[in-house]
Amino acid sequence: MAEEYQPAKRPRRFIAGVVCPKCAEMDKTVMYTDDSGEEIRECVACGFVQTLSQQIEEDARAEELATRVTPVDGKMIFDEEEKPLKIIGLEPKSE
Ligand SMILES: [Zn+2]
Repeated sequence: MAEEYQPAKRPRRFIAGVVCPKCAEMDKTVMYTDDSGEEIRECVACGFVQTLSQQIEEDARAEELATRVTPVDGKMIFDEEEKPLKIIGLEPKSE
């Protein structure tokens, strides 16, 4: 059981207030950057790994299912990128 592996080639920083979607541990998630420049999140508690694009997709899906309002003392940092929302049904009818 080699659970403690440390790649150590990239700086990994803990993200405060982030809950692991798998094991629900808070403040166990680290973020680092891939060789391809992709941001990776990894839970050091259970080893769950997720890329940022997967994360965004899942966030969007979760928001559709239920609008969770859980402010964590302004420590949430994953709302930096706002995705353009297309509002259907409000388009002006020009022709
Ligand atoms: Zn976890």
